[in-house]
Amino acid sequence: MERIGFIGLGIMGKPMATRLVRAGFDVVVFNRSSGAVDELTDAGAQAAGSPREVAERSDVVITMLPDSPDVEAVVLGDEGVLEGVREGMLLIDMSTIAPSTSRAVHAVLAERGVDAVDAPVSGGEPAAVDGELSIMAGGSEEGVARARPLFEELGKATTHIGAPGAGQVAKAANQVVVALTIQAVAEALTLARKAGVDPVRVREALLGGFAQSKVLEVHGERMLEGRHEPGFRIELHRKDLAIALQSAREDGLPLLATAQVAGLLDALIAQGAGALDHSAISTLYDQLSGDRDPTIS
Ligand code: NAD
Repeated sequence: MERIGFIGLGIMGKPMATRLVRAGFDVVVFNRSSGAVDELTDAGAQAAGSPREVAERSDVVITMLPDSPDVEAVVLGDEGVLEGVREGMLLIDMSTIAPSTSRAVHAVLAERGVDAVDAPVSGGEPAAVDGELSIMAGGSEEGVARARPLFEELGKATTHIGAPGAGQVAKAANQVVVALTIQAVAEALTLARKAGVDPVRVREALLGGFAQSKVLEVHGERMLEGRHEPGFRIELHRKDLAIALQSAREDGLPLLATAQVAGLLDALIAQGAGALDHSAISTLYDQLSGDRDPTIS
């Protein structure tokens, strides 16, 4: 069995690493803050002092970090993974980052004989806990095949999308759909409420018809209950839309609706709500509809 390194034990990484430990893998972990590391070592993982040490003690290194600069720092930076790799290792980056950064990291590792797979996920924390993630992979056939036993512990479906960076492009597309659907659900539920109709009943009815979606089910419920603890933070979703917009710009493509919903996320961040769940788009509709005084936080 391959020895697994896992770096980034946040909302997603902690339950994912825990699943690998419970599945019997030898797992060595590193995180910037130590609380999650203690939980993992209690579960049976080993702790390392740096990403370099994780690489030295592993055959396959998984990263689950917030953004492109974090992956660059952890893999290519001081005391980073690159300083500890050996030929024949595999890096699986499951963070959502820019396809261009992903391809650049793949290229640097390839020079050292290390294969890499970009494998961002969809599904959120509950799916990470239950091993039900949807995994979008980019990289070589061999790399993805080698990663599959791990993906089977973490996800219910893995799609090999294409070459390095292709997994990240698929994830950007996913994030466009999710953001726009959250906005549509917030707008529809506000429409019902302002018309004097119970939005709870409206959601129930819509769940049985063509407007049914996971977002209507999960985020719709959060909106109705006013529960916006993350979940998936607004600032992370804004980062993902920036990735989509940047990628589209490189191809000369205007993403009209994506630019518009990115503006809503900017407004929430400006109001100090960046750490809330992305379902909090509905709070902007509360303000726009006059149902919430925007001067009261
Ligand atoms: P998070 O902020 O909860 O976790 C990130 C972890 O990385 C933290 O524990 C942090 O301490 C650690 N970290 C950051 N920089 C580090 C460094 N230099 N060295 C070591 N550790 C470092 O984020 P998350 O919600 O777990 O998301 C992780 C990735 O997964 C992001 O790219 C996000 O877009 C993506 N994602 C998140 C969700 C979700 O619902 N939360 C769903 C799908 C994909």
